[in-house]
Formats: sequence, structure tokens, C-alpha cells
Amino acid sequence: MFNSSNKFRHTQVFCDVRRPCITLPGPRGIRRYEFKLHKSENEKECLNLIFIKKLLTQKGENDDFSIRRKCVYTFNALIANCWFKNKILLAGDAAHQTPPFAGQGMNSGLRDALNLSWKLAFAINSNNPTILNSYEQERKYHIAQMIKISLLMGRVLNPKNKFLGILTRLFFYFISYYKPAKDYIFQMRFKPIPSFNEGFLWKTNNKYENELIGQLFPQPMVDDFKGNQFLLDEILGNNFFIIIYSNLPEKFISNKLIKKFKTKNINILGITPEYINPAQTTFKIVRDASKTLYNYQYN
Ligand SMILES: Cc1cc2nc3c(=O)[nH]c(=O)nc-3n(C[C@H](O)[C@H](O)[C@H](O)COP(=O)(O)OP(=O)(O)OC[C@H]3O[C@@H](n4cnc5c(N)ncnc54)[C@H](O)[C@@H]3O)c2cc1C
Repeated sequence: MFNSSNKFRHTQVFCDVRRPCITLPGPRGIRRYEFKLHKSENEKECLNLIFIKKLLTQKGENDDFSIRRKCVYTFNALIANCWFKNKILLAGDAAHQTPPFAGQGMNSGLRDALNLSWKLAFAINSNNPTILNSYEQERKYHIAQMIKISLLMGRVLNPKNKFLGILTRLFFYFISYYKPAKDYIFQMRFKPIPSFNEGFLWKTNNKYENELIGQLFPQPMVDDFKGNQFLLDEILGNNFFIIIYSNLPEKFISNKLIKKFKTKNINILGITPEYINPAQTTFKIVRDASKTLYNYQYN
């Protein structure tokens, strides 16, 4: 809808047993409302403007809004058994469907696209599709976790009876007074972070190293030797990198090896801790100015 009188900047959830509802702001004054419909209500009557206005005014809207889009939808919690067969690859909702409660369906589809696109280019350019097998291996576990979280959120947001509805509201009311718990819930920190246990990676026998393999790499703010600051991703781009985190990265690799990696399009980047100035050498070395890697190492 346009011209909503609800100016709240965040998502609001009404854990109302009679009709659970969620509302969230969009760009340019748009606001989205979703209401649970009852089995006795049919699509035609629910899309009637009088019915919609009644629902919206019950949630505090003035009636000078205009409707941009209205629809009745159902949702699923599904994962396809096989995502890659006979040159056909599934991604996004074709591979998995997530209930909308965690707002993660499209995010998961984007993660698929990011995972798959460079592998597809690599498979075509090298005429070797083996790497494509890692796509499903890497993505499936995370999407299954995301669907579980969405289902759980759905159960919390749609209380089955009045008693559970009151308990849910009381829970959120009290939690809002304890900041760490409030942040954990409201910033959705319980959302599973994407990590890979299998796929295009090599585990080692070292327990410490294995904790890092397949995890999202931290994103420090780094300085080069001239003092220019970058986010690490601005340097890495979409390229393969070997990262050497050390006081003296230049001592860890020979020029011969650097050249050998270069022929395979693999770059080298050195990162020093925050307290060491990066040296100028045959490959780029930057400083972990935000101490992100240092904190990651010792937490
Ligand atoms: C109410 C609701 C709220 C949501 N909220 C969020 C949210 O807040 N955050 C979030 O991340 N996700 C959300 N989602 C999920 C998100 O909308 C979907 O996960 C996402 O749109 C899936 O994108 P997709 O490109 O995989 O599939 P689709 O969006 O379904 O796109 C597939 C396209 O392919 C076309 N198509 C189908 N068959 C053919 C064919 N044979 N030939 C050519 N074209 C074809 C279709 O017409 C369609 O345009 C929500 C979903 C719903 C229903």
C-alpha cells in the first residue's frame, strides 16, 4: 500500500490468535501487510476492498491509503531431492521453498546464484562439469536449516490458542528490557550462518584449521603500505586468493610459488596484524586495521 499512516521503520508482528499479522516498511512510503486468512474465507471476498480496509484500520491505518497490490498466497517448506541432472540445474524457489516468516526465500535464491554462477562459467570454460556437483552439497544444508528456522518462527508468530498468544506477547515484552536478548531476537542473530561441511573444500586433520574451513571469511578494514583504506572484499573482488596472515607474510612464500599460482589465476595477499606495518614486496600486503582477524583468532 502507498501512503501508510504507520511510520514505524521496522517490521511489526501481531501474534494475535484471531488473525496473526505482520507488517513491514518498503521503499518510497510503501508498506506491506500480511494477514492469516481463515479456512472459511474465500479468495474473492478477501480481495474485496471493504474487507481489506477493515483489516488495515483494525491495525491502526487511516483510510486514506491506496492499495498497490493485493493477493492471496500459500507457502511451502520444500527442498528438491536433486538439483543437478542432465545439464539441468535448479536454483531459487525451483530448488527450495521457504515459508516467508524469516524473509529468507529470495536471500537463499541469491546465495544459490552466487554459488552457482562462477562454477557454471568455470565448467563451461574448462569443459569440465565436475565442480558443479559441489553446488548442491554446499547449499542444501544451509537451506534446510533456514527452512527449519522459518517454520519455528511461523509457530511462534502464529500462536495456536489464546494462552500461547498471551505467553508469546509477554515473552517479547519482557525480552525488550534485556538488551542482549532483545538484540539477539530482533536482529535475528539466531539465523544460521552459511557454512560448508562438504563441497569444494579440503578439510585437514588440524581441529583449529577445520573450524575455519568452509566458513564465511571475516571482512576487516585494511590499510595498504601507503595508508589507503579498503574493505577486504574490495581487494579480493571475485578472484581466487591465497591469504597469508602473519607478521611477515613476505617470508612465507617464494617467488617461484607465487608465479606458479599466477598461472592458475590464483593471487596472493598478505595481511599483517594491526600492530605491524605492511611491507612492499612482490605481492600485495595490507594491515588488519580494524583488528578483525586478530579478534577472530582470539575469540
Ligand atoms: C508473501 C511472500 C513474502 C516473501 N517475502 C520475502 C522476503 O521478505 N525476503 C525474501 O528473501 N524472500 C521473500 N519471499 C520469497 C521470495 O519471493 C522468493 O523466494 C523469490 O521470489 C524466488 O525467486 P525465484 O527467482 O527463484 O522464483 P520466482 O520469483 O518464482 O521467479 C520464477 C520466474 O520464472 C517464470 N517462469 C516459470 N516457468 C517458466 C517457464 N516455463 N518459462 C519461462 N519463465 C517461467 C515465472 O513467471 C517467474 O517470473 C517471499 C515470498 C512470499 C510469497
